[in-house]
Amino acid sequence: MSGAKTGIIGGSGLYNMEGFEAGESVLVETPFGTPSDRFSCGTIGGREVVFLPRHGAGHTLLPGEIPYRANIFAMKKLGVERIISVSSVGSLKENIHPRDMVIPDQFIDRTRGRADTFFGDGMVAHISFSDPVCPELSRIAAASAGSCGATVHKGGTYVCIEGPAFSTRAESNLYRSWNAEVIGMTNYQEARLAREAEICYTTIACVTDYDCWNESEASVNVEMLIDNLKANTAMARKIIQQVVPGIGEERDCLCAGALQSAVLTEREDVPEATLKKLEPIIGG
Ligand SMILES: [Zn+2]
Repeated sequence: MSGAKTGIIGGSGLYNMEGFEAGESVLVETPFGTPSDRFSCGTIGGREVVFLPRHGAGHTLLPGEIPYRANIFAMKKLGVERIISVSSVGSLKENIHPRDMVIPDQFIDRTRGRADTFFGDGMVAHISFSDPVCPELSRIAAASAGSCGATVHKGGTYVCIEGPAFSTRAESNLYRSWNAEVIGMTNYQEARLAREAEICYTTIACVTDYDCWNESEASVNVEMLIDNLKANTAMARKIIQQVVPGIGEERDCLCAGALQSAVLTEREDVPEATLKKLEPIIGG
């Protein structure tokens, strides 16, 4: 068994699954603060995994309050090389139905002022983000979702809004005119920071309903929504059980070298405190 772990970020109900051999739960402090919650460590199919409930165990954090930097930095400290994110989204397309699964390959950021880089404090780095998710991990996630019986849409654009309110109808139609597929509130920062930390990242976007552009579905009732959420969580659990053992030991993608030509500041010009703070990320 390799030392590399897979991190899973999702709802707190996600890791109550068969096949997850729970070990200890750990609290990890970071220079960017305390993560959303403790990490539940354990194994799936003999492979090491760590779970993190994105909104905290009691779902106490708004999307804009989630400590994204602490979450990803802590994953890096724990030895995570790949992150599978699970989140709920609204559909912006007729043919993407509630309970479908989308594996987005692009993002549009519509959040406001969220901290989304580890750099600064005297160290400048520009990572390449034209392809914001790991192609290899996304391929495995899509294949696993398909073999679990989910309706999978491989690829698509995820619009990340600030929330916590949903979008207006005019905004929803604007995003549709941009040809985006789904709308959510959390995945953009995770993907950015994972890339800066040279961690492979993919996201399983579970469709709960149509966004408000679809006026014929506007009277969607709460019961239906909760049923969809439950069904999506059950499906996401199945997919995770498939994905984790299907991940190869070695990484063949470019994610592991994301910082190789990204840092512009000469090492001798970076303040000592910044080098020390970012050691887990820039150490190699
Ligand atoms: Zn990768």
